[in-house]
Amino acid sequence: MVPLTFSDARDTVIETIRAARPSPAVEETGLEGACARVLAEDIAADRDSPSVARSVRDGYAVRAIDLPGELEVVGEVRAGERFAGRIGPGQAVEIMTGAPVPSGADAVVMVEYTKRSDGLVRIDRSAEPHQFINPQGCEAAAHETVLHSGKRLDYCDVALLAAFGRATVKVYRRPVVAILPTGDEIVDVGQVPEEFQIRNSNAWSLAAQVARAGGTPQLVPVARDTVDHTREMIERGLAADLLLLSGGVSAGKYDVVEEVLAGLEAEFFFDRVLIQPGQPLVFGRARGKFFFGLPGNPASTMVTFEIFARAALELLAGQAEISLHLPLARLTREFHHRIGLTRFLPARLSADGSAVTPVEWHGSGDIPAMTRANAYLVADADRAEYPRGELIRVLLK
Ligand code: AMP
Ligand code: MG
Repeated sequence: MVPLTFSDARDTVIETIRAARPSPAVEETGLEGACARVLAEDIAADRDSPSVARSVRDGYAVRAIDLPGELEVVGEVRAGERFAGRIGPGQAVEIMTGAPVPSGADAVVMVEYTKRSDGLVRIDRSAEPHQFINPQGCEAAAHETVLHSGKRLDYCDVALLAAFGRATVKVYRRPVVAILPTGDEIVDVGQVPEEFQIRNSNAWSLAAQVARAGGTPQLVPVARDTVDHTREMIERGLAADLLLLSGGVSAGKYDVVEEVLAGLEAEFFFDRVLIQPGQPLVFGRARGKFFFGLPGNPASTMVTFEIFARAALELLAGQAEISLHLPLARLTREFHHRIGLTRFLPARLSADGSAVTPVEWHGSGDIPAMTRANAYLVADADRAEYPRGELIRVLLK
């Protein structure tokens, strides 16, 4: 198969999964569990917001036409109550932020611009009609849809749900993501490895990434580098909503993952992407389930999850909009690389996000270097030289 560029591969993942129209099961959650879940219903306002015209300042409710001038203060209104009367010519009501604007008033004057003495208030400037008043329904009208199904809820959305009286809400069930490490050299974390063996770290970084992205990780035992055992484990993994394999997708003699998948009549959408780390990445579908064969080097597994598998997981979770933020930061030193591959290299972004410095590393097996990074520097495939001070894209970790 022809290798794809980074953006073509990402588009392929998103378009292929969207075309399959995933429809995850729906469940109900309370507000305490709603943040970061994906909404499975449209939410409508149950009343106008605000429900009455409200003052957005502490001060005096007035008739703009009466100003400047000295007005008779006929009462007070604060949040949580309503002024019973009506403001007539030459009158004002003292008003607090959030309080309903008394009828007859069409403006609020900030307390800072008023002088009160006994029953009178003196205001030496004029007022614009409607100033410092939020009209009824200006934020949302009753029955208007304020949140759409498919949105991943953030804390503002949770506030909105609360404001419109939704104590519980329908969300999509989290996709179950099978994580299947491969390799004869891989041993369990609790085991003391021989010097030619490696502890299984990929299953745990992936489990953390899956959970963070809104999935439920399900660990499958390590597949040995034989066709039979790998097939048995892949069949297990295909029971989940999404299967993530790690390792076994390079061109080595014992990299049997693609062969086994082909034997299961898998469809392959791509099996190489022009990126580093992670070039031998595989994306396909078998028995109706999508899978990724993520390259086994720890940094490759981490990066390819973030830039490809996370999008897949989010779509399978019912999320409508998929994004990958690649903001710009200034390089603190000159950077160059060989063109042809889009590179995602460990880097340190300054506290304010404006400056980026590559982290020294020894290749995609260097987990300690990955922990020193808080971002990836993203070097374009068609640009070799980045002078110091140049803007370059970054991906937050
Ligand atoms: P592979 O893609 O199977 O050739 O694996 C490449 C390298 O990634 C291996 O030599 C290991 O060093 C490393 N690796 C593979 N799987 C894991 C894993 N589950 N945990 C940590 N490192 C791994
Ligand atoms: Mg291997």
